[in-house]
Amino acid sequence: MKPELTAAFNEQITREFSSSYQYLAMAAWLEARSFPGMAHWMRLQSEEEWAHGMKFYQFVLDRSQVVELGPIPAPDVDFDSPLAVFARSLAAEEAVTAAINDLYALATELRDYASLPLLDWFVNEQVEEEATVSQVIDDLERAEGEGHALLMLDRELGARVGGAG
Ligand code: MG
Repeated sequence: MKPELTAAFNEQITREFSSSYQYLAMAAWLEARSFPGMAHWMRLQSEEEWAHGMKFYQFVLDRSQVVELGPIPAPDVDFDSPLAVFARSLAAEEAVTAAINDLYALATELRDYASLPLLDWFVNEQVEEEATVSQVIDDLERAEGEGHALLMLDRELGARVGGAG
């Protein structure tokens, strides 16, 4: 594996763990404002991002390269509303999608075809991530100002099962 590509994979490991940390901060914000279902959803999302980081981590090792973890920035902790939390989440997923696309382009340019099955998995995963968060945003927009609808949505998001995908 070319050093340039290893460095890019290592950056992606840090990005996924940063994302996990950001989702945990969102969970904490929601817990504090008594949205236990949305907080549960964010905790599972945090676990899923951790698992993504570990997928890249293992791949770097499997390719006989050295894992180098970078610093994780402090997460955003101030939000105006649950809608603002999920909007921040969508922006973060779009940034991750762009990063995965850049990795894909680099791996292709360097003819590192062994990276492509893993990156294909992530390309598909990002389509799903963005679709899921967009749906929650639509639901939150519809529920705006209606306590009952917001409560129902919190219950629904609280029923999410599984995490690490
Ligand atoms: Mg991810």
